[in-house]
Amino acid sequence: MTDKFVLIDAGHGGLNKAGRFDYGACHMNPGGTAIREADKALAISYVVYEFMNYMGIQARMFRHRGDHPKLCTNARRLAYARDNADWISAWVSIHLNSHKSPNAHGAEIFHWHKADAEELQIAEYIRNEYVLLTDIDGIPMFKWRGIKTVTSHDRWGDMARAYHKAGVPAVLVETGFLSNKRDRYYLTNPTYIQAIGEAIGLGIAKYVKSKEKP
Ligand SMILES: [Zn+2]
Repeated sequence: MTDKFVLIDAGHGGLNKAGRFDYGACHMNPGGTAIREADKALAISYVVYEFMNYMGIQARMFRHRGDHPKLCTNARRLAYARDNADWISAWVSIHLNSHKSPNAHGAEIFHWHKADAEELQIAEYIRNEYVLLTDIDGIPMFKWRGIKTVTSHDRWGDMARAYHKAGVPAVLVETGFLSNKRDRYYLTNPTYIQAIGEAIGLGIAKYVKSKEKP
């Protein structure tokens, strides 16, 4: 495990199949400014990355600030994971959710149903820290919606399956709903972004350390 690295993958931010910028979910503020999933996912991912460095765990970001969107397509994500499959200990894809109902809220983790036990372990380690650390005086920031083992070809199923097919243990973390007022407050506030990223980072770190034990 020591030679391996964690792939931290900020969701979206590339060109989609139609050649347009894929910003993921989007929330329009009353003032007309947009909150884009791609930007917030990147902000959270940087915190996770910094935390990996702090813990002395090898990590790489797939997408960086300022990368050309041509470099960040889903096809390139998969190619990168396949090319580096022997060296990736965990592929953690970070997203913000959205729903047409503003009441939908909470966090969840997806992985593909034929996944080996590693994916479930990674998901459980992240879940444990996420539930514990994103808590303010006993009140959870996010409702925990569960670890979802996907089998269907919905938008999560296709993503989770594609990641899994790359041959590395992969999970997709939906940190909360950009379309929900309370979740959005936490997902866009730098203090809470720090807490969210550290929670995910600590979960990954515990998984990686668990593999180092003799
Ligand atoms: Zn997304």
